[in-house]
Amino acid sequence: MPSPKPRSRSEKSRARPASFFSFKRAQRAFGDSPSPEELIGKGVRFVKRIYALRVIGLSIGFFCVAAAFLQNPVGWPLWALLIFHGYIWPHVAYRVALSSKIPYRTERMNLVADTGFGGFWIIAMHGSLVPSAVILAMLSMDNIAAGGTRLFLRGLLGSVFGALIGLLLLDFRFAPEADLYTVVACLPMLALYPLALGKSTYDMSKKLAERSREFETVSQRDGLTGLLNRRYWESLLIEEFDACHEKKRSSCLLLLDIDHFKNINDTHGHLVGDEVLKNFSQLLKENLRTDDLIGRYGGEEFVVILQDISLREAETLAARLIEQVRQHRSSDNMLWGCTISAGLVSFHSDMEAHYSWLQRADHAMYQAKDRGRDCLVVEGR
Ligand code: GH3
Ligand code: MG
Ligand code: MG
Repeated sequence: MPSPKPRSRSEKSRARPASFFSFKRAQRAFGDSPSPEELIGKGVRFVKRIYALRVIGLSIGFFCVAAAFLQNPVGWPLWALLIFHGYIWPHVAYRVALSSKIPYRTERMNLVADTGFGGFWIIAMHGSLVPSAVILAMLSMDNIAAGGTRLFLRGLLGSVFGALIGLLLLDFRFAPEADLYTVVACLPMLALYPLALGKSTYDMSKKLAERSREFETVSQRDGLTGLLNRRYWESLLIEEFDACHEKKRSSCLLLLDIDHFKNINDTHGHLVGDEVLKNFSQLLKENLRTDDLIGRYGGEEFVVILQDISLREAETLAARLIEQVRQHRSSDNMLWGCTISAGLVSFHSDMEAHYSWLQRADHAMYQAKDRGRDCLVVEGR
């Protein structure tokens, strides 16, 4: 078969479809906030996390206010409201948030409502200092952890609003002293709630760290073969190029292309073609050193940075690899009779940039194609 003319890589990149980098994606990348439609149904996990914290916080916070009510007795409507807030409201807030269109947004409103209750209780307790400070501190901690300074400030406004309602409805007289029972009743809130919030925040940051690790892997790997993807691999090539320049390191670049791969697809179908690509990638991993940086450059082209190696050693490695592929021809269907052509080039200080290195390897590989394929061409020996 005649060998195909080498196509320029810039030409290939130009052939990318226009949708490759859509306007919407670009908008998001530059930090535009999501549209209301994009938020629909969002925040269920947030609601569940706050629900657990609210159940704990309000059920123990109940005792702070109850102790202050025992010190300065109040009527049954306030007791009823306190029981509602401590033990019924967390479940109501949870249901309301989950059944709303944008759970995340509703839950933030619930958090502001919590601070509204807080302001009201401060007035109902006649400004009893210890429980008031504990309640305000815990609610503010909640808001700042859930929504930063913005939610914290909204929460403060909510507290002021709640306090104003209290002043309007209740007979307020300032009585800041708390007796010992009230102080003791506030201790569980002081001791336990920060622990619950800290644990919940830690769990969330752990999950976030896992996600970001997963995302990093996905963004660096090729989906089909699990090898490094072209973009990430090229960034490593730039680093290697610089390291070779600065530290006078000798490294080699190997470019491999499966021969007549199109025939595999045409004869056996794309699924078999995919299988061959995966098996070939596995073979590469098994036959190269662990610190060699193997990437899928595109289609059936693979690239390897062989770090800190002499050209002679790299040639032995590459020749062994081609031989391994050849042996699979007769022994099994793993590679469906494929062979490979390869170009190998060692780093030279006269190279202008990383792409000069890549171009030379590309050139060597196409020479291997010209020589009838299933062979290795070493450039600059
Ligand atoms: P040559 O020996 O000259 O390299 O010939 P070739 O057939 O290997 O090269 P050509 O560039 O003509 O064809 C490459 C084929 O690889 C065409 C394309 O359909 C196929 N291909 C590219 N990516 C994938 C993939 O992810 N899966 C499968 N199954 N095929 C792929
Ligand atoms: Mg090919
Ligand atoms: Mg090719």
